[in-house]
Amino acid sequence: MFQAPRGTEDIRPEDQTTWRHIEKTITSFCRRYCFRRIDTPVFEDTRLFVRTVGEATDIVQKEMYTFKDRGGSEFTLRPEGTAPVCRAYIEHGMQNLPQPVKLYYFATIYRYERPQAGRYREHHQFGAEAIGDGDPALDAEVIDMAWGLFKALGLAKLTLQLNSIGCKQCRPAYLAKLVEYYQSRTSSLCEDCKTRATRNPLRLLDCKNAGCQAAAEDSPRSFDYLCPECHEHFERLKKYLGIMGIPFALNHRLVRGLDYYTKTVFEIQPEESGGQATLGGGGRYDDLIEELGGRPTPAVGFATGLERIVQNMKKQNLAPARTEGVDIFIAPIGDEDKLAALKLLADLRQKGFSVMLASGEKSLKAQMRQANAFSARQVVIIGEEELKAASVLLKDMARGGQGAVSMSELSSVLSARLKTEVKS
Ligand code: AMP
Repeated sequence: MFQAPRGTEDIRPEDQTTWRHIEKTITSFCRRYCFRRIDTPVFEDTRLFVRTVGEATDIVQKEMYTFKDRGGSEFTLRPEGTAPVCRAYIEHGMQNLPQPVKLYYFATIYRYERPQAGRYREHHQFGAEAIGDGDPALDAEVIDMAWGLFKALGLAKLTLQLNSIGCKQCRPAYLAKLVEYYQSRTSSLCEDCKTRATRNPLRLLDCKNAGCQAAAEDSPRSFDYLCPECHEHFERLKKYLGIMGIPFALNHRLVRGLDYYTKTVFEIQPEESGGQATLGGGGRYDDLIEELGGRPTPAVGFATGLERIVQNMKKQNLAPARTEGVDIFIAPIGDEDKLAALKLLADLRQKGFSVMLASGEKSLKAQMRQANAFSARQVVIIGEEELKAASVLLKDMARGGQGAVSMSELSSVLSARLKTEVKS
């Protein structure tokens, strides 16, 4: 028997109401915050990710789905959404549009990770990128949208963690301090972190290993080593968030898993998760576009995993009620009545109703059983007698009771009972 590949999941019909609700809420936020949708291909040139996400990151080292196509070109299923959007920004000359260019996407993301609760090999992200403006007000706006979005979905007990990891100018001095700090502590680090200490020292800070966490607690804090520009940016951002009423906690261990971030980084986490179930995160990436061959272009963005949102909504009993069952079920009594049933089926669907026809040649009793099995709300019974009188027998399954209704009045009666708007 085939199964969905490890680390992937089907989104079944019973969960679609929740997914659509989340997408609708997000889309409404994007409109209010003036972001426009972009869709990019599911695979890209592998070098796009190696160059931006970073050679030494877990994503590039261990997690990418990379393959050669039949023409011999090397591609990678996108392991994140920002680099493709920046590639598109450059490719389509969006630097010539009024800045900032604000784009959002819904995209499947692929990472070869060890599957566990809330961690998949294929997951869905919503991301928003504001490209072409270095104003900390834009960082605040992106954070405000992310925060507001989770609130609008009803999620409670969230914390916003904030850090600044500086820029090309100030980070080297900070990294030197960090490496120096860790030199006397290598014995308490996990094997991975021993190599990180030379290859990617920032990542020492967010290792989940207990010994590494303890060592990170007292490590030098990047926001104490910012250059005047980054310092000013961070101070203004904190002030703006204060004015906007968005509570945040400074976290000097927050560094994110991708190399392209500069200055601001942030994450939104459910309170009791201990950082294992981060709902979303993002930050500034002022060098990324230049790295890809574009003009120097500051930018800030955010992404969230839809599976994590669904998981948290379920945990907090916020998943919207599902509307299951069929609105209208048509049951023709005899063989000849099926023609009239098919006509009525087409007519009601045309008018906007959701309708199902009994399948096969069943007795009326068996048809009623089928209607019940599909939780039909209204059953239209068509028989010879009724047809002669240009009417049908309408059975109200939700409230009980049945009676004859003339064909000419049927759609307005159904519309009133089902509260469906009817197209004339
Ligand atoms: P990242 O691209 O790593 O910044 O992740 C952004 C968001 O995507 C995270 O905050 C999670 O909500 C979600 N996410 C990341 N990786 C996974 C995964 N493997 N499975 C499910 N959700 C994920």
